[in-house]
Amino acid sequence: MGIRLGCIADDFTGATDLANNLVRAGMRVVQLIDVPPPGAVPAVDADAVVVALKSRTVPPHDAVEASLRALAWLRSAGAEQIYFKYCSTFDSTPAGNIGPVTEALMDALDTDFSIATPAFPDNGRTVFKGHLFVGDVLLSESGMRHHPLTPMTDSNLVSVLGAQTTCAVGLIDHTVVAAGAEAIRARIEDLRKEGVGIAVADAVSNDDLLRLGAAASGLPLVTAGSGLAIGLPANWGFEPSRAAAQLPPAGGHAAVVSGSVSVATNGQVLEFLRGGRPAFSVDPLRIAAGEDVAGQALAFADAHLADGPVLVYSTETPDAVRSVQGRLGAAEAGELVERTLARVAQGLVERGVRRLVVAGGETSGAVVQALGLTGLRIGPQIDPGVPWCAADLPGGDTLHLTLKSGNFGGPGFFTDAFGLLDREAS
Ligand code: ADP
Repeated sequence: MGIRLGCIADDFTGATDLANNLVRAGMRVVQLIDVPPPGAVPAVDADAVVVALKSRTVPPHDAVEASLRALAWLRSAGAEQIYFKYCSTFDSTPAGNIGPVTEALMDALDTDFSIATPAFPDNGRTVFKGHLFVGDVLLSESGMRHHPLTPMTDSNLVSVLGAQTTCAVGLIDHTVVAAGAEAIRARIEDLRKEGVGIAVADAVSNDDLLRLGAAASGLPLVTAGSGLAIGLPANWGFEPSRAAAQLPPAGGHAAVVSGSVSVATNGQVLEFLRGGRPAFSVDPLRIAAGEDVAGQALAFADAHLADGPVLVYSTETPDAVRSVQGRLGAAEAGELVERTLARVAQGLVERGVRRLVVAGGETSGAVVQALGLTGLRIGPQIDPGVPWCAADLPGGDTLHLTLKSGNFGGPGFFTDAFGLLDREAS
């Protein structure tokens, strides 16, 4: 059985979030890190493939180019339907990139219609009468109003999207969505006749997403946050099952590498230290002074891996981070730490670590690149939005890893994660 659903995600953690939802709805999913070279169609044994791009805030032309490359690859791999995944807060500017990418994908797929469904009620993102709510407030009154790259000051997605595309934008409103898949299909036909190219779809509950998912069967392209993923797999007969999340057996040493400075990660590091477990603190000022901090961390790991998991962390409180940034510059400090932690991750894998937790979005990117990983099979969920994954190492071994962005995960995440793998094995 080949690939059913081909997904193009505009950022890395968004890709994982989508993959995680598809797995929970019963599909076996592989997440690819960037687009494989043309012609390289590896035998991907999965029901859905998610290609993770970094196209959310790049110039629209670049986002379109990368998305079309991803589309070409997914089609060559046999994908029957394409899912363009963006943020559930519709992060974009009047220049794009949601509108331009959607339009380019529609042209390439030779289709005159798609839907836009950012709603993700489980995460408090709902759409009603075309207006996006974050929790109890309109998008334009939420923190997204002040986002540094994509400030969202208008909650009316019909007008937000209309400004980004030459397509006419319409609305499938909640009365229609609540009436079921047949009513939604009829509305789509009416909108099509009126010349509407993209319709924003209301959804305030998971049931709404399930109805929209059923109605979207047969559309060559859907565009959405990760929420719609709960409603699509059933169109091919998939049902939630543990088998979809099954990874190969895990083994080897266990370690955590944390470069995240988020509040949740600070709590997770504290909890780990409180348990008296082996931990090595990476000090950016020592790296800047020329010390071989990665080497010191690995020497520490050599002594403690047998009683792992071992934690190597640069995680600090906001005050401490600001002080370091004041002395080194924010970008320079970030880069020094990322490079060091990526080297530590490489060294840990060389020492037989085969179960690895990485905390921090940027840190994850650096680690994945240093380890030369190209794809992740998505496994069971540890905490909402954070699954275990399995990746082939360049040498052929399997590495189990989880990439936890900033504020995800409960306080015990650094030990709970390994507990879940142990339970899966038993
Ligand atoms: P998060 O997901 O929590 O934002 P990221 O890894 O995406 O975590 O980003 C954290 C950034 O802060 C990275 O660039 C990392 O290298 C940097 N960093 C980590 N620890 C420190 C520290 N102690 N001082 C200064 N910068 C740090």
